[in-house]
Amino acid sequence: MTTIFSKIIKGEAPADIVYQDDRVTAFRDIRPQAPVHILIVPNKEIPTVNDISEADAPLIGHMFLVAKEIAAREGVAESGYRLLVNCNRDANQEVFHLHLHLFAGRPLGPMLM
Ligand code: 5GP
Repeated sequence: MTTIFSKIIKGEAPADIVYQDDRVTAFRDIRPQAPVHILIVPNKEIPTVNDISEADAPLIGHMFLVAKEIAAREGVAESGYRLLVNCNRDANQEVFHLHLHLFAGRPLGPMLM
């Protein structure tokens, strides 16, 4: 199922892209919930965490390495940041293309609910 994220990855829809390689694209969230709110998205269409396969393990690891790199570039590695993934209805997943939220730039509290 293709979402707006695939269009952003292919350059067919606008976004503030902060990082892109052959496996992952990262761009600023259109409705930021923190001063830094970036989505790290696999270029491959994986709808939810439930759809991740064993073969995707290197890709998922790469997403975290990219998140770490972006945090450093944004200057928030030391102050701290939160990485979060929503899965399905009870987590209010809105876009069914796997993505890692990176929140930073203010104290985030014990949890983002
Ligand atoms: P979810 O609830 O699925 O984990 O989060 C989806 C996120 O994608 C939301 O924070 C929402 O603001 C963001 N989003 C939805 N559509 C767009 C879009 O077209 N462009 C960008 N940059 N972010 C989007």
